[in-house]
Amino acid sequence: MVAAPPVRGAVSDRQRMSDTSVDPFAILITSPRSAYAANMLDRSRACAPPPRLQRRARSGLCHRPHGSRSAMLDDTTLCSVSTLPVTGNCSRLHGRFYLERVLAHATARWENRLPGRRASTWAASSRHSEEREREMELTRRSFLGIAGMAGVAAAGAGLAGCAPASTGTSAQDASNDGDGAKGGVTRQAVATYTCDVCICGAGNSGLSAAVEAAQQGLGVVVLEKHGGTGGGGIGTEGVFAVNSKMQQDAGIAIEPAEVIATEMSYSHNRANGLKWLDLIEASGENISWLQDCGVNFTGVVDDYHGGLFETFHWFGENRAHDDFSPAMTATAQELGVQFLLNCPATDLVLGEDGAVAGVYAQKLNGDYVQVNAKAVVLATGGFANNDEYLQEGGFSDTTNVKRFLYGYDGDGVRMAIEAGGASNIPRMSGLMQLTVSGAPGGEYGTYGRGDGLVVAGHNACSLWINEDGERFCAESAGVENWMSDMIPSLMHQKLFSIYDAKIFKDAYDGMIAPRLDWAATQEELKQRIEENPHDDFFSADTLEELAQKASSALDLDYDTVIASITTYNEMCDAKRDAYFGKPAEYLQKLENPPFYFCYMPQSCMVTFGGIRTNRKMEVVDKNGQPVPGLYSAGVDSADLWPNIYTINVPGGTNANNINSGRFASKSAAEYIGSSKAGSVSSEGDTSESVPDVSWSMPEGALKDGVYTDTQFGMFSDITVTVTVEGGKIAEISQENELETTYVGQAAMENTLIPAVIEQQTPAVDTVSGATRTSDAFRTAVQTCCEQAVS
Ligand SMILES: Cc1cc2nc3c(=O)[nH]c(=O)nc-3n(C[C@H](O)[C@H](O)[C@H](O)COP(=O)(O)OP(=O)(O)OC[C@H]3O[C@@H](n4cnc5c(N)ncnc54)[C@H](O)[C@@H]3O)c2cc1C
Repeated sequence: MVAAPPVRGAVSDRQRMSDTSVDPFAILITSPRSAYAANMLDRSRACAPPPRLQRRARSGLCHRPHGSRSAMLDDTTLCSVSTLPVTGNCSRLHGRFYLERVLAHATARWENRLPGRRASTWAASSRHSEEREREMELTRRSFLGIAGMAGVAAAGAGLAGCAPASTGTSAQDASNDGDGAKGGVTRQAVATYTCDVCICGAGNSGLSAAVEAAQQGLGVVVLEKHGGTGGGGIGTEGVFAVNSKMQQDAGIAIEPAEVIATEMSYSHNRANGLKWLDLIEASGENISWLQDCGVNFTGVVDDYHGGLFETFHWFGENRAHDDFSPAMTATAQELGVQFLLNCPATDLVLGEDGAVAGVYAQKLNGDYVQVNAKAVVLATGGFANNDEYLQEGGFSDTTNVKRFLYGYDGDGVRMAIEAGGASNIPRMSGLMQLTVSGAPGGEYGTYGRGDGLVVAGHNACSLWINEDGERFCAESAGVENWMSDMIPSLMHQKLFSIYDAKIFKDAYDGMIAPRLDWAATQEELKQRIEENPHDDFFSADTLEELAQKASSALDLDYDTVIASITTYNEMCDAKRDAYFGKPAEYLQKLENPPFYFCYMPQSCMVTFGGIRTNRKMEVVDKNGQPVPGLYSAGVDSADLWPNIYTINVPGGTNANNINSGRFASKSAAEYIGSSKAGSVSSEGDTSESVPDVSWSMPEGALKDGVYTDTQFGMFSDITVTVTVEGGKIAEISQENELETTYVGQAAMENTLIPAVIEQQTPAVDTVSGATRTSDAFRTAVQTCCEQAVS
């Protein structure tokens, strides 16, 4: 047996183990919420989910199953309920992650299926950055008076002559003299749109901002990077509110100050208390407003699987992509909002005085369009895909970080900073977690929290070491709040988890509804270790052999690794974690072979925060002064959960998306004042931005028969079956799991299927607003036709 590691500090390991006069646990657990934490720990014995939730899951009452698809508890939806036992956390159900698999899958499939579009989009993005660098340099010079910018953009034209706004900074005060943009980059645009407010991003906050702005009588253009509306928000299941009509009807009374006190306490008073107050005060009415906008709720309000308050208002079907996004998009369109899809905002148009005068956006074909606007709302959904910003926010290991969603490049944050806004990135939090690298044959982080391999590595009973082979925290870090389990790893480069067969099985048994059964999970584990695509997942029959394998593959110091294991096991024997105070119930000795060792990369699904804003959602500079005409909403500027997402108050993020969107537009309306045009005008080439993919009927006669192909649509696989009779396409049917009922499915059933049958070709028109579903459907039909002629 190898000796214990060298003494750290003045107290020896032996002393630590025996000295009860100073208990490190008492020092470590000093949060004001420790009583709550202790309570939670009691409730999470043996890393098993609480009986209440187990019963709910088994009886199909785990909230997701309000809708029939959720009740199927299949390969995808399982993930939502199976996330609970990851850390044995009984107070938080880590739902929602049913979509992480879907979205990761979507990304992979999307990249594979439409390489042309994807490649051109990203090629264009990198082109942007180089161009932007050059142009920003010019801008800096122009501000310094070294060189004047040509007034190509004419962004402020049409904005001149604004009447003074009633209060605060007005568009007139801030706008330039009408000679066009005087600052920022300039781009040659093929089309110009002129409106009152331009909203960048059509997710939950952008859609809320768009509807509110239109209701304020403003002419609105929404720029959206992707081919459909909804953003990451399509995965949201509900919204927080206090004192809504639904709560009143259900007799649910919540003291607002209690909610705020909880959040302020958890954030050590770093959260923006006033914004919490604003949010809570508006939240009840926001629910009614959403209902008026056509958003459907189930009527169920609860604590979202064990949150602290009964504030979660479930969307009908429990999914925004069926209820929130289509309704809000339709309402916005009815109110005259113009959506430019596949058209990411690239740069703000700035007046000479620094006031925002519009936005440039780029179509998929590379052409720029210019949106002249008196105000701009940045609602681009954060920066989960931006390594530089993540590092600034505290991520130490972005090399393998898993993203889940794509397109969240921090465009809004960058544009705000370029316009003079202050960065709030160092206070970011988000939906962040530890994951497991490399599914069998796959890439990093392909597993989700519903998977046995992730659950075992996360487990509070496992042992975690860093890149130096040293244990560095209580592995129960995520028991109270699963968003916490990744946090200790931020201080280190890598987190490796070590566990044994018993811990693996216990963790698996604690899952409410695992994605795979036990035998299949073991098979997956075996395959993962055999394939070992990144040489970072090992098993062995002895701890020494395990440490040897891992140390040589990962360049770790064997002596340190084995010493960490040995010391940890001694602490387990003593039922006292003398280093980090992990509760005794999680101190399970590693003694049941086989033993496992895996690398657990940091991952990030959504970031919260980045742009500093004031109470009116105005983007502010370092001195708190507003950048005239610039606003932000949603997670781009969320500052209610600094440094850590609490998940205490169910649905809070979404409530903030909606409220901040509305606030931003109300503030913009006030800023614009009576100078609003109330409409959108355009000139130049206003053709739609569409992907460069095409379909055609393969040459040759179709043989009679039934042909099937599956393609990934907006959210899920779409299996299309084409029946050929008499050499003609006679019948088409489609099956899918998650395409939106009113958008994707409706597009196929009502438009695409009849069109293909009538025109006898897959080369039919895209259904606007259902681009990805249309693409997948047409590709599947074309593949079926190719099968029929071969
Ligand atoms: C799967 C999932 C489930 C969630 N469930 C909940 C829940 O139930 N309750 C809750 O409170 N919170 C939930 N959240 C957290 C949070 O509410 C969501 O992330 C929410 O979508 C954030 O809204 P948003 O408008 O800020 O961003 P998004 O809804 O993601 O919208 C941002 C939009 O901006 C677009 N965009 C990006 N760059 C540009 C650009 N340069 N120009 C134009 N457009 C751009 C994106 O394509 C996207 O459409 C969930 C998050 C996820 C991912």
